[in-house]
Amino acid sequence: MPELPEVETIRRQLEPAIVGRRIERMEVLDPRWCEPAPPDEVAQAVEHRHIEKLDRRGKYLILELADDVHLVMHLRMTGNLLLVPPGDSERRYLRVRIDLDDGHHLLFADARRFGTGLVLLGADAVHDYFSGRVGIEPLGPDFTADALRGLASGRRQPVKAFLLSQERVAGVGNIYVDEALWLAKVHPLRPVGTLKRAQLEALHEAVVTVLHAGIDAKGATIDDYRDATGAEGSFQDRFEVYGREGEPCSRCGATIRKIKAAGRGTYFCPREQRAPRA
Ligand SMILES: [Zn+2]
Repeated sequence: MPELPEVETIRRQLEPAIVGRRIERMEVLDPRWCEPAPPDEVAQAVEHRHIEKLDRRGKYLILELADDVHLVMHLRMTGNLLLVPPGDSERRYLRVRIDLDDGHHLLFADARRFGTGLVLLGADAVHDYFSGRVGIEPLGPDFTADALRGLASGRRQPVKAFLLSQERVAGVGNIYVDEALWLAKVHPLRPVGTLKRAQLEALHEAVVTVLHAGIDAKGATIDDYRDATGAEGSFQDRFEVYGREGEPCSRCGATIRKIKAAGRGTYFCPREQRAPRA
């Protein structure tokens, strides 16, 4: 499932190629993509408008169009957003096709069909949509060690579940949480409100570090993720714990373990990430 680094990779690739272009035509081939809005309505709102900006909030991509029209997209489990040359517009599992005025196509392909698209009119509508749904941006200026401490204060929730909550810290998913907790030497089941100041500072730094590393590697490809050019990411080659059950920890040599936390397969070093007292 694409997380912040994967979505940001796509954003950075698409931005120089599509900002300033005009959308000539939009075809929603799968009405489920934008339901309950009718596909024709979504297409009409978007067609013949210039693309002014490509933004990201958490795992959402926001195409900002002329006249304050916003097309908000989420890739969910298996969505791919591809920019392809003129005429090369057929793909397996194609759900949406956007034709640009330079002949390129923006394709939303999605094997499992959980990805979504939504049109929002006006900045207030965008603000309302994301407030309460998407929390602090971990690569933005507001995400500081103090801010993380404020969010964590008094909470009994395990730190893994806490970091996965999109309404608290945006865009961080299963892979990057495990990698960040390993880097900060914090056990995934530790109640977040019991973490010491130094641990929260280490965790803050670790979250930022692994997200940047993920972006540098153009994301991680486990299953379906491809960047906007159709290429795989390479961060999976740099995982320290994720998917490495039974292998030695690169720092201490202990055997990496897998448990279930927040309903997700969770990998950690049992020697350096000490379990909380029962
Ligand atoms: Zn270790």
